[in-house]
Amino acid sequence: MIMIDQDRPSARDHREIGRAMGVFAGHPDVGAGLPLWLPSGAVIRHELEQFAREVALASGCQPVYSPVLGKRALFERSGHWEKFSEDMFPPMPVGGDQLVLRPANCPHHAMIYAAEQHSYRELPVRYNELAPMFRSEPSGSLSGLSRVRQIDLDDTHVFCRPDQLRDEVVLALDALLDAFAVLGIDVEYLRLSCRDDGPGFLGEADQWRQAEAELRAVVAERGLDWREAPGEAAFYGPKIDVQVLDAAGKEESIATVQLDFNQPERFDLSYIGEDGAAHRVLMIHRGIIGSMQRMAAFLLEIYDGRLPVWLAPVQLCLLPVAAAQREAADDAVRLLRAAGVRVRLEPDGSLGRRIQDSRSRRDALIGVIGASEAGADEITVDDPASGVRDRLKLARLAELIKEAVGRRDRRVVLG
Ligand SMILES: [Zn+2]
Repeated sequence: MIMIDQDRPSARDHREIGRAMGVFAGHPDVGAGLPLWLPSGAVIRHELEQFAREVALASGCQPVYSPVLGKRALFERSGHWEKFSEDMFPPMPVGGDQLVLRPANCPHHAMIYAAEQHSYRELPVRYNELAPMFRSEPSGSLSGLSRVRQIDLDDTHVFCRPDQLRDEVVLALDALLDAFAVLGIDVEYLRLSCRDDGPGFLGEADQWRQAEAELRAVVAERGLDWREAPGEAAFYGPKIDVQVLDAAGKEESIATVQLDFNQPERFDLSYIGEDGAAHRVLMIHRGIIGSMQRMAAFLLEIYDGRLPVWLAPVQLCLLPVAAAQREAADDAVRLLRAAGVRVRLEPDGSLGRRIQDSRSRRDALIGVIGASEAGADEITVDDPASGVRDRLKLARLAELIKEAVGRRDRRVVLG
């Protein structure tokens, strides 16, 4: 038996783990910072996207779609051109216009809001999109999945009345914290970034004070550690960051609920109030999974590739001991696939070698069918993460995996 050394730091580099699992690859002709998702990586991403969509729907979001391109004028109006044009890809002249790849999805969502008139009665509206955005990062700073030039973001923009701010922040934060519990990510603390007396903060001081007080109340009642960071707010609004530790113990903020006083002004976004007059709407940026690339890298590292079973590219690696069990193994593959289990059949080579390969691929479970199992519709299953071994009916195993995946449990309980 080969044991994976969990403590070796190099084993926690998502690039190494990704290589062993076949998660992503790069090619010089495609370009730096533009990773290709291989089939195993695509499974992880598909499951994350599915999860993000479910959470977004459950917290009242409506799916929208928007193009990755927009006129340079859109980003001049949003303020991105002035602040971030260095990090944007150069404009493409098309039919008298200049088109750019978007550096953020907010302006498109602002335009979706602006496409219809909104009454105070129908607010809040929450638009969710799994949306690619682009950063022209220097080649030297690019790395694996964690620093890339196309970021696929689970992105939500909430448009609400000022009196709805607190409820919206509660909804956003609770959805995030619940999702992190499912993903097995421990929250270190919540960080509330506020303004200070320095220059450059946009909007009325009163508006800030009130918004910060609401955020403070929400953060304080979550029962988690929290800290206030004066002066750390973005120029356009205060925010709450969810701080976590990566596999190396380094702190990073993995999700944010960000208020925005700026874009509603710039795009003149309003709603019709009870008084029949137009009022400025409040905008909140939030997501659940955030960047698909970064979340995949983060999870690969904290789990050393041994992802929760619902995210595992291979949920069961099936190994017939000898050629005589090949037919039984084929039947087992059919039964398990019909139950929705991601099974990989490895019929050839020495059993020890196949087990070792499966372990370095971080397959969730390893199932062996020898002569005695084949005669009884049974399988002997090992969970390399827990060391538990069990022999059970194939149909029972299919059921256990299906149940664990349906509940998004960390692992299948054997034995
Ligand atoms: Zn945004």
